[in-house]
Amino acid sequence: MCSHGGGRSPLVPSSTQQKMPGRSVWVLVLVLALALALPSTGQQHLEEAERIMTTTPVIDGHNDLPWQLLWKFNNQLRLPAANLTLLNDTHTNIPKLRQGHVGGQFWSVYVPCETQNKDAVRRTLEQMDVVQRMCDLYPETFACVTDTGGIRKAFQSGKVASLIGVEGGHSIDSSLGVLRTLYRLGARYMTLTHSCNTPWADNWLVDTNDEKPVHHGLSPFGKMVVEEMNRLGMIVDLAHVSVDTMKVVLNISKAPVIFSHSSAYSICQHRRNVPDDVLQLVASTGSLVMVNFYNAYVTCSDKAKLSDVADHMDHVKKVAGAQAVGFGGDYDGVTGVPTGLEDVSKYPALVAELLARNWTEEEVKGALAENLLRVFSRVEEVKRSLQGTAAHETPIAFEELQGPCRTSYGYPNGAGPARCPPAALALALALLLSVPS
Ligand SMILES: [Zn+2]
Repeated sequence: MCSHGGGRSPLVPSSTQQKMPGRSVWVLVLVLALALALPSTGQQHLEEAERIMTTTPVIDGHNDLPWQLLWKFNNQLRLPAANLTLLNDTHTNIPKLRQGHVGGQFWSVYVPCETQNKDAVRRTLEQMDVVQRMCDLYPETFACVTDTGGIRKAFQSGKVASLIGVEGGHSIDSSLGVLRTLYRLGARYMTLTHSCNTPWADNWLVDTNDEKPVHHGLSPFGKMVVEEMNRLGMIVDLAHVSVDTMKVVLNISKAPVIFSHSSAYSICQHRRNVPDDVLQLVASTGSLVMVNFYNAYVTCSDKAKLSDVADHMDHVKKVAGAQAVGFGGDYDGVTGVPTGLEDVSKYPALVAELLARNWTEEEVKGALAENLLRVFSRVEEVKRSLQGTAAHETPIAFEELQGPCRTSYGYPNGAGPARCPPAALALALALLLSVPS
């Protein structure tokens, strides 16, 4: 039975009539065709994001691909499995970087806290070497650069400006000489701590009571480290440090600082995140918070979505201004990333979300790259203004150095030989400690 039988035209043979759609069906088809032809608002924002990112690609503050290269391949980049074009069990590979419009990346030369007072310096140098070799092996994709001019040049040539971020003050083994040498080798930021105190700075775990505060910020030597970083032109990174350390540094640094991968504490009460009173100091110093995507810092749970990250960006913008917002994905350094931000190809989706939230093109470009470039330029200016200032020469006091196995060359009364416990003594101690009491 046909409900439209009464409306049939007598001029059309009945066999044809049954196959002809009614007018309402045509209208429906037309509406559907129009809907398919016209991009949805979401699609429009994504296209807008892609357009903006063609000229202003993202500079991300923190990516742990070098750690993955160590962990998976012991830094053997030419192993077939380590091919960065084909690598697909990481957040980062070359096609994904291209798709994500990544134009600048601070590669983290992270080495764990357990290397502190052991082989931290050697391992840091090896991670710096693997970043350099990445640039050498894929010159079409990566350009290792060390200044703002280099970043802008890489943008123009369509390459990923590759910079080195040292994640944790333990990497300098309490030595200003090592700090200066890392700078000469290309390091352009140093996170003052990872998740452990150094002999001169407190980390965020003192705010959760998992570690005892030792310096309530920085020791006098720690202040010298910051002064020396200002003099060298190395960006000070406050991700991972305690709130006291954040405040001390924001007050003494002559140049603005960054949080290379931290989110907003008001949105998720995790101590790795930046509280509002610190965000105000970020605003007053022209500093930058590059928002972390790790689920645990985004929602304080193991699940998160892209819009949750945008909430952090909105919050930093509200409290510290749009010029204080950046991206610090922490890709390949974390286990859980939000739905919609699964890997480095997804930055445009987050930018589309910001556009949907009425961020202006200028604000978006700031968050993508211009804010970091402004901070880095200022760091370079401070370096120039301090040219002619002598390097700090005072070494850390020998008593402040930790670790059982050090020589004391150069220190007063230093006999020179290592003060490692003799092997037999170490064995006896280990046996003694293993006996249940
Ligand atoms: Zn980190």
